[in-house]
Amino acid sequence: MTPVSQNRDGDTDILDGSMNHELEAIVVGAGPAGGICALELASAGIDVALLEKEALPRFKLCAGGFSERAQDLLGLDISDAITNKVEAVDFLGKHRSRLRKDSTSIFGSIVDRKLFDAIIVDEARLAGCAVYDGAGAHSIEREGGLFRVATQDGRTFTSKALVGADGSRSVVRRHLGLPNLRRRGVTVMFELLPNTDVNLESTTIKLDFGVVDHGYMWIFPFGKGLSVGAVTSNNYLPGARAKVLEYIEDDEALSSGFDVKFLGGCVVPYWTGERRVGDGGCLLAGDAAGLVDAFMGEGLSWAILSGRIAAEAIITQRGAGRGPLGLHARYATALRREVLPELRKAYWFGRLAYKYKEPIFKLVSRLSFDGDVFTKMTRSRVSYRALIARMFRQLIRF
Ligand SMILES: Cc1cc2nc3c(=O)[nH]c(=O)nc-3n(C[C@H](O)[C@H](O)[C@H](O)COP(=O)(O)OP(=O)(O)OC[C@H]3O[C@@H](n4cnc5c(N)ncnc54)[C@H](O)[C@@H]3O)c2cc1C
Repeated sequence: MTPVSQNRDGDTDILDGSMNHELEAIVVGAGPAGGICALELASAGIDVALLEKEALPRFKLCAGGFSERAQDLLGLDISDAITNKVEAVDFLGKHRSRLRKDSTSIFGSIVDRKLFDAIIVDEARLAGCAVYDGAGAHSIEREGGLFRVATQDGRTFTSKALVGADGSRSVVRRHLGLPNLRRRGVTVMFELLPNTDVNLESTTIKLDFGVVDHGYMWIFPFGKGLSVGAVTSNNYLPGARAKVLEYIEDDEALSSGFDVKFLGGCVVPYWTGERRVGDGGCLLAGDAAGLVDAFMGEGLSWAILSGRIAAEAIITQRGAGRGPLGLHARYATALRREVLPELRKAYWFGRLAYKYKEPIFKLVSRLSFDGDVFTKMTRSRVSYRALIARMFRQLIRF
């Protein structure tokens, strides 16, 4: 049988029927990190294959909060994947006291991850990348500077450059013997679908910092319904599922008129400090490298940026006529410059803000801030560095 790959419109591409493939680069995992990396590589004329273990398009557990900065980094038209525009944010403190509400402009969007990820993969396909779904990498060997990836459908892919963009339980990371991501966050998520005519605030997101230790509860619009979940930067969230259910039942606006469905729970690989992001000719991007903002739990923009940087490193290395030996060093240097400073600050800001939640959020909400501190954070237009510096300046003036 000739293997095929399906795009989001259900059209099929006939793929190379052979079982052994020699390439210039292999990307494992067709999330945003892998998709954008494969797109960039194929656009630069590099012979690349994108391997995905699920059948595409696939479901991904995610609230879909997509900041304006992430949109700038992506640079693709994703309007088909947007379920809601976010125009207002409610911040809630202990006992649901409201700290702040802002509704002056658009903060970003909520995206349907199944459609969103499929748009990126389709672009990669159009640029010439061979996409193999149902082709999970299950064994990876390194031999004389070459990576040999065997997939669950019996294929073998060989290449000098390998990108592991296979999420928080990265097989690439494990097979290369890189240390596990030591400290992670945890999240659970429910979907609420209206079963009667309910009047939803479909452009407002709610973040409740008064319930979960070292984290928050979110209520996001999702199309005609809602997603409700909890996330913590702790290693575990005891009774997480029951806690969110109780939260939903306690809220009149949520407890009637909706069918409530548990979607799942998993780890969120928060960035907590220096970690290896690859080895030799192998690079890790997105969740596989642990690149998630440890204060807000935002991972999409970092997945996109790191996927791009991984591709740039491979393209530059190839352009310079160099082998894959210095590839990891090149990538790590670029990440240290463009990604890690901000993630480090998110980590320290998160530790402080979650330890002294109430006083900090009360204080911050009272600061006059050239606009609003939370607005800037949810828009992700302002760096933590600038934010913290301005907060201190304001404090000194008191
Ligand atoms: C409940 C929840 C809510 C979230 N909400 C937000 C949010 O609102 N905003 C935000 O910015 N971030 C959010 N995040 C984080 C965000 O989802 C991730 O940071 C983002 O998906 C990372 O992208 P990625 O491409 O690195 O990995 P992923 O999106 O996880 O993609 C990895 C891909 O690799 C595939 N794969 C895995 N193993 C293999 C294998 N062996 N071989 C081949 N393929 C493989 C997987 O099937 C998957 O398709 C949330 C996360 C969770 C869990």
